[in-house]
Amino acid sequence: MIYNSLWLKGIKTKAEPILNKDINTDILIIGGGITGISTAFYLKDSKLNITLVDSFKIGHGTTAKTTGKLTYMQDLIYNKIQNIYNFNKAKKYLDSQKYAIELVKSNILNYNIKCNFESNSSYVFTDNSNNINKINKLKTFLNKAYNDCKVVPHLPIKYPCKYALRVDNTATFHPVKYVLALKDICQKSGINIYENTKIINLEKTIDGYIAKTKNNKIIAKKVVLACHYPFFLKPYFFPFKTYLEKSYVASGIVPKNKMFNAISGDDDTHSIRYYSDTKDYIIYAGLAKPLGSNMDNEKNFKDLTWHMESNLTKDIKYEWFNYDIITPDGLPLIGYLEKDNNNLLIGTGFNTWGMTNGSLAGKILSDLIKGKENKYQDLFDPKRNLTFLKSINILNYNIDAGVNYVLSKIKTNYNFYPDNVKVITKDGVKYGIYIDENQKEHIVYNLCPHLKCNLVFNTIYKTWDCPCHGSRFDIDGKVIKGPSVYNISINKDTLK
Ligand SMILES: Cc1cc2nc3c(=O)[nH]c(=O)nc-3n(C[C@H](O)[C@H](O)[C@H](O)COP(=O)(O)OP(=O)(O)OC[C@H]3O[C@@H](n4cnc5c(N)ncnc54)[C@H](O)[C@@H]3O)c2cc1C
Repeated sequence: MIYNSLWLKGIKTKAEPILNKDINTDILIIGGGITGISTAFYLKDSKLNITLVDSFKIGHGTTAKTTGKLTYMQDLIYNKIQNIYNFNKAKKYLDSQKYAIELVKSNILNYNIKCNFESNSSYVFTDNSNNINKINKLKTFLNKAYNDCKVVPHLPIKYPCKYALRVDNTATFHPVKYVLALKDICQKSGINIYENTKIINLEKTIDGYIAKTKNNKIIAKKVVLACHYPFFLKPYFFPFKTYLEKSYVASGIVPKNKMFNAISGDDDTHSIRYYSDTKDYIIYAGLAKPLGSNMDNEKNFKDLTWHMESNLTKDIKYEWFNYDIITPDGLPLIGYLEKDNNNLLIGTGFNTWGMTNGSLAGKILSDLIKGKENKYQDLFDPKRNLTFLKSINILNYNIDAGVNYVLSKIKTNYNFYPDNVKVITKDGVKYGIYIDENQKEHIVYNLCPHLKCNLVFNTIYKTWDCPCHGSRFDIDGKVIKGPSVYNISINKDTLK
């Protein structure tokens, strides 16, 4: 078993330079996932000077761990949007997703991008009789909007399903190949791309921003935040308005690609798609839960394997996990982050649908920068009123997160820790200790620098993971995923 994403299999990229001098730019894009690269792509023909930086490698963040569906059949999202707003808003969101699929499709066609694009059908289904009325509500919505969905009794494979809806004009692709192809196009158009270049601070000036890395600064007129979870608290206070949902993904070999993708509308989401290169694979994602409630990776991978083996294939090759940002109203956050500030833009909060929404964010953000109207800019405006009533899920999550936060302060060691992992407290400070196979001790601060949550050891990846906002650190304390921009390494003498 390989505990890594199928999308990184065989991917070899040339390393981009690390920023090692101070620079000036018109537009600074922070983050090179599908959102950042799409924004750069749609700005490539402007006369603006564009710089894109990524703290790691282009296309290797959340985008490399998705299931890579390009679909508007997004579980029960339209029911949620209709409940909170109305039919028209839900329909506009549906239109935006159809539009985003066309955007990606036309880029692939126009630039002849080889990214295993495959047109196929999408299903939303349930295996729970109590949820049939929810699926029927979705059917009524889709048929009122476009009359393009069909009721079917089961999926095209033997899989637990009592009722399903199908549409036929959706697709799947290889997300990393797509993003890397857009990167090449951007570079050929003169966009400057830096990797292993982490922004640790943003300072507002009268006519833009100064973004700081450890040793250099970038003076920019406008900044686009395409870094998934922002590394700062103010403005916007993301942790109080959004939460992270984590899922586990597995991929295994099957005899034949059945050319469909599906997602359940049940609480325990099941998501399926196929992918073909030299072999045919099925990809399954499940066990979706708020991030902090899902930290026993060994157990979760076992449950995932059991489900795959029982229902889809016994020949599992890859397993990984991923998390995405969930917003209170089911709509992404794309646009200007602050009132009266046209220099700070963001694209995030994709509710696990960032292949369409990240691409769309690229288009909307580039239109805003070029001063062009975009018909979806109001729908996704991050400054929209996410009132208390609309935020009831987030409120529940914040209560849970608060409880988890307090528990994490009290709790030191988890029952799933093996003997070579422990957390100790000395002079009121918690330290995490991991002893490797050569009996070498690796000691770190057990506190996330982002918002001071205590960290949980990930026994599969040998990392210290934040249960609150998703930062991750290696056994020697180096940050490998934000929002934290700081390490948790310690001076060995601290413990003596
Ligand atoms: C299990 C699962 C399955 C999914 N499947 C689908 C699907 O089938 N279809 C779909 O539409 N969506 C899907 N999604 C959602 C999708 O994966 C995400 O919404 C999308 O990948 C987010 O892309 P991004 O560009 O915003 O973020 P990322 O891909 O994470 O890119 C952000 C980049 O910013 C960089 N960065 C971060 N901080 C800094 C910093 N301080 N300085 C510089 N760079 C920084 C990171 O290194 C990273 O490369 C799924 C999500 C999950 C959890």
